[in-house]
Amino acid sequence: MTEFELISRLKPLLPRTPLVVHGAGDDCAVLSAPLPGNELLFKTDAVVEGFHFLADTEPERVGRKALARCLSDIAAMGGTPTAAVVTLGLPPGYNPDRVEGIYRGLRALAEAHDVAIVGGETTTNPDRLLISISLLGTVAAGRAVLRTGARPGDALFVTGELGGSIHGHHLDFEPRLREGRWLAGSGMIHSMIDVSDGLAGDLPHLLGSGAPGEPVIGAELLKSAIPIRRAARLGARSSDSAKPPIVAALTDGEDFELLFTVAPRDAVDILDGWRSAFPDVPLACIGKITDRPGIWLCGEDGMRPMIGKGYEHFR
Ligand SMILES: [Mg+2]
Repeated sequence: MTEFELISRLKPLLPRTPLVVHGAGDDCAVLSAPLPGNELLFKTDAVVEGFHFLADTEPERVGRKALARCLSDIAAMGGTPTAAVVTLGLPPGYNPDRVEGIYRGLRALAEAHDVAIVGGETTTNPDRLLISISLLGTVAAGRAVLRTGARPGDALFVTGELGGSIHGHHLDFEPRLREGRWLAGSGMIHSMIDVSDGLAGDLPHLLGSGAPGEPVIGAELLKSAIPIRRAARLGARSSDSAKPPIVAALTDGEDFELLFTVAPRDAVDILDGWRSAFPDVPLACIGKITDRPGIWLCGEDGMRPMIGKGYEHFR
């Protein structure tokens, strides 16, 4: 199948929204500019066969995941996703049915969140499939929630549950878009990130870079408050070599939950408001930000520096 044949097969699968003036098919897509008083968010991400999914993973789940990862980053800013372009790197001899399946997965998730897919690129990639997605979003001007902004004393919260993502969650997770917008809209959130490389890997991003002039802050986590996904507990039971569940919850990648901080006086309001807005989504206060550097784990054996890191790429 030629590239043009493939594109004509994929084009009917591209979702449109009222934002799209001219969709895929010209040299560029034409989109309505965001309304005054809004800012643009712009994001890119890629998934690679053998790392983020396997050669035999259902193609619909592969396409869904590729977009869901980008949506999770828009969620972490408190924004609304609007339009995406998709680049496919296809190995020679690819199966066009599989590519169509990927686009069906992409489309279902895009439609669920009113995201248009307005174009892209297909190219050859030796020996494995790669999908890269660039995504636009909007957020009210000045209201994007950044990673910076945590202060000593802040309460630290995480949505959902952590660990054991490899048992399916990494493909089927729901990006926390409504939740992220609700949090940003509360005006109470000091800092936020989505947990993609494990709590241990991503929490340091909320604690500053330690660059000169930047205050050095740390965090104390209450071990018993960390919400552990059932799959992380089952994984530990099913194999002797598996990590203890708490270690899985702290270090496994691809949870795609939101990690954020609020002033201690707002913690109860956030919890109360959350329970009525999202009764089915857990929210846990797992610790606090401190002016002592480092990440400390508070358990029955006292306070210990956290060991173990999140998922690191290129290792
Ligand atoms: Mg992120």
